[in-house]
Amino acid sequence: MTSEKYAKPNGVMVLKKGREKPLLNQHPWIFSGAIERMEGGAKPGDAVYVTTLKGDFFGVAVYNPVSQITGRIMAWGDQELDDDYWQETIQQSVARRDWLNLEPNTTGYRLINAESDSIPGLIVDKYDDYLVFQCLTKGIDVRKNQIVHQLKNLQFPNGNRAKGIIERSDAAVRKKEGLQQTSGVIEGDVPEDGVWFVENNLSFKVDLLKGHKSGFYLDQRDNRQLLGLKSLVEGKRVLNCFAYTGGFSAYAAHAGAAQVISVDTSVPSLELAEENVLKNTPDRPDDEFIAGNVFDVLRHYQDQEEQFDVIVLDPPKFAHSAKDINKATRGYRDINLLGMDILKPGGKLLTFSCSGLISADLFQKIVFGAAVDANRYATILKNLHQSADHTISLHFPEGYYLKGLLLECQ
Ligand code: SAH
Repeated sequence: MTSEKYAKPNGVMVLKKGREKPLLNQHPWIFSGAIERMEGGAKPGDAVYVTTLKGDFFGVAVYNPVSQITGRIMAWGDQELDDDYWQETIQQSVARRDWLNLEPNTTGYRLINAESDSIPGLIVDKYDDYLVFQCLTKGIDVRKNQIVHQLKNLQFPNGNRAKGIIERSDAAVRKKEGLQQTSGVIEGDVPEDGVWFVENNLSFKVDLLKGHKSGFYLDQRDNRQLLGLKSLVEGKRVLNCFAYTGGFSAYAAHAGAAQVISVDTSVPSLELAEENVLKNTPDRPDDEFIAGNVFDVLRHYQDQEEQFDVIVLDPPKFAHSAKDINKATRGYRDINLLGMDILKPGGKLLTFSCSGLISADLFQKIVFGAAVDANRYATILKNLHQSADHTISLHFPEGYYLKGLLLECQ
């Protein structure tokens, strides 16, 4: 048994009158302004009971006075956060993916998606026989040993247990919880040269210690598979903007695109992109990997009057907080306008936003504006979103962040 020092609730978080509505709706966040008082001397990271002013009981939250989100509900009811709790919640989350039948054709996917799997602050991704976890809150951070203990015991569909467990608690959001950034191998051995996993039977190498997020944008799996349709890309000229390690590029090349051009500012990412493309489709003499700013590269193609059959626009998050929304809106408009401008008549555009603060509705309006400005008539062939292992709880709509459109532009 691991240390259960933090298992028992230690005190009570009493809500202000009239501030219980989100909790009645089973939303897990308690903002600092909703708290009337704390009783019982809880310390940061402790579990606490949550009640209304009248004493009605909601459940158990973890407490962090440093964060605007001062309480996060871990259980709706009286529950110790002991080893049994972790075993059950982690297994439940993993089992929630069973219906997807991802293995063995896909061995890289998300097992635990934080709030969206009712475990606020904890992300766990699987890459082949390796597990990568992120602690995003104080409540999770202090319980790291208990969680790692469970991850060590987790059995994969192939019967194996983790060969290595890596911590990637280097996300910027940790600052808001008063936590330092930290990452490293916690258990086992991890090959320094990277780990190979498969996604829809294509192979990808990932740097689990230094790559973005946990190493790969697993949330784009279904959209990459879409681009891997021969009917979309065979014999076509494809431009993959914000290519990272070549996820979309590898699918397009494998489906027989005549040429795939990958653009990203990061040279190491592009080196890995080339390795990933060639691993799956060895002979690609016409492909290019361009290190540069997508905005400049698109303007360059515009000047040269070069055109493409298919363009992917998967930029990083433009809106990090509400004050960024206007600027982000302009960013998405500009990039889509530029993209449409160099798309052949009848060409296809896959365009995305991973900003949670830009709703699918708003994103569609922004792209519409770009089409009007580009003087193109666009049809939505498909609405796109994060893959299903990146669960969305109906009670936590903030978890729906990745949206996109497959457009045909005349
Ligand atoms: N489509 C990728 C993920 C893209 S993540 C996949 O499926 O794996 C966003 C990428 O954009 C990162 O690799 C980052 O290096 C790159 N990037 C950010 N700003 C950029 C810019 N202005 N020009 C080019 N690349 C940029």
